[in-house]
Amino acid sequence: MKSTMMDVPLSLNHLLDRAGQLFAGNEIVSRLPDKSLRRHSFGEYYRRTRSLASALKQLGLKKGDRVATLCWNHHAHLECYFGIPAAGGVMHTLNLRLSPDEIGWIAGDADDRFLVIDDVLLPLYRQFAHLHRFEKVLVFPFSGAPVPGEFSDYEALLAQADPDGLVYASHDENDPVAMCYTSGTTGRPKGVVYSHRSTILHTLVASLGDFWGLRGTDVVMPVTPMFHANSWGMPYGAVMMGVKLVFPGPHLHPDDLLDLMQQEPPTLALGVPTIWMSLIQTYDAAQAESSPNKGRWTLPRGMKSLVGGAAVPESLIRAFDRHGIWILQGWGMTETSPVCTISYPRAELRNASQDERYRRAAMAGVPVPLVDLRVRGEEAGDQPWDGKSVGEIQVRGPFITGSYHEVPVEAEKFAPDGWLRTGDVASVDALGFVKISDRTKDLIKSGGEWISSVDLENALMSHPAVAEAAVIAIPDEKWSERPLACVVLKPGQAVQPAELNALLLQRSFARWQLPERYEFIEAVPRTSTGKFWKMKLRERFPV
Ligand code: ADP
Repeated sequence: MKSTMMDVPLSLNHLLDRAGQLFAGNEIVSRLPDKSLRRHSFGEYYRRTRSLASALKQLGLKKGDRVATLCWNHHAHLECYFGIPAAGGVMHTLNLRLSPDEIGWIAGDADDRFLVIDDVLLPLYRQFAHLHRFEKVLVFPFSGAPVPGEFSDYEALLAQADPDGLVYASHDENDPVAMCYTSGTTGRPKGVVYSHRSTILHTLVASLGDFWGLRGTDVVMPVTPMFHANSWGMPYGAVMMGVKLVFPGPHLHPDDLLDLMQQEPPTLALGVPTIWMSLIQTYDAAQAESSPNKGRWTLPRGMKSLVGGAAVPESLIRAFDRHGIWILQGWGMTETSPVCTISYPRAELRNASQDERYRRAAMAGVPVPLVDLRVRGEEAGDQPWDGKSVGEIQVRGPFITGSYHEVPVEAEKFAPDGWLRTGDVASVDALGFVKISDRTKDLIKSGGEWISSVDLENALMSHPAVAEAAVIAIPDEKWSERPLACVVLKPGQAVQPAELNALLLQRSFARWQLPERYEFIEAVPRTSTGKFWKMKLRERFPV
């Protein structure tokens, strides 16, 4: 017997058409380099995106060609998200925080044909231009200054293109639409290629009520860069539902984000824990009578906040909740589109205490539909979901990569049956809540026992004087490794290691799990996606 359903390929073009037909009146706001706000409607967005696709076709873009972007979060970047695939191309978001050498290498590895770049980033382009030759460089005049003569002007191209005459490139649902490189913090960067199908399925799943819960009335502020796992896929969801978007542009300083939240209060904002930590510390410091910022900001009460990409400390969740903002933690990777698990209030937790709700919110959460998740121990076989047994998380699903761009499948990255090996060590409890204890390379093995750096960091960051804490392993003759805690204090605060140890003991850490040593440092180094960069700390404190 055959199914009677139509065989219609899943397609990003459908989402784009919806935005034009149904949400033409909704708004997209972008913060420009001079901090002014540019507003336009989804109706304009639809036409401009089709113009971009039409212009790319005129330039000779062929199916499967890569078009790189080197852009901040703003409306033109969103145009690339849909306009490049509409022309049959593959959008490749370059990470502007990488070194010029790395960017050049990645553009070469992806064999990018064209580049769309913000004019304010041209100085960066000039540093890697010799490493990869783009056939055309389209400069988006983000700052409003005239585009230098040697480049193509993005706006001029759009102005002369014909949005009405565009015919979408024909495609299969498994054809590629976008590409991101892994950060390379754990080896050479590798390309992950998303398809129409994987992107649509990921968007539908992530938008569900308990996860992003996208509603037509939402105002979404994506602080997560659009080059970091596609801003976790939110741009696709926002266009699918036509929700108002507020893009911060290049202004990611906490003062700037708080100003923007004041001007255009979001109902949903997303970012990594480090940015959210500085946001709440700046906000709380502004409440002091003596602060020059007293009364400058009010956080949007009731706002939902998606935070992930690194472990979210419970203290951060509590700090935001004090202001009526609930943090929803997610876990995922560039390889997984990225949303794999989200921590949300399950029905079974209806009568749970507030402390239990916080404890759960500080976990990575429950696997989302279409993602199969298992935890593999050192011996073959899956670990039981008992909340104690730890192992490597492995995942499988239609929006999880099965290989890397032009890299042979390696045993280190994929299990023999094809599941993705995430390199994250975790346990899962009976309710399916995943608790990450470390990345494999960050594990601390002391006297044959694992010590979770994530647990130690979370506990240390709950101390009122501590702004940031990152725990790494240092070699030890007797125990093989011991934990070293690198602590950043809040301005004007002081605390002794003994006091921090007392806090850890009170939080039920055993004596052997306490840090061997504390280093008080000025800041924890950040990776290109704003996470704690422990490799740099290991280099700084080799012993
Ligand atoms: P990178 O961190 O190397 O830049 P990704 O952005 O793809 O690359 O990050 C994926 C990794 O981030 C995961 O493998 C995991 O180690 C970490 N991560 C993501 N979300 C969480 C979370 N909620 N808790 C702990 N770790 C997380």
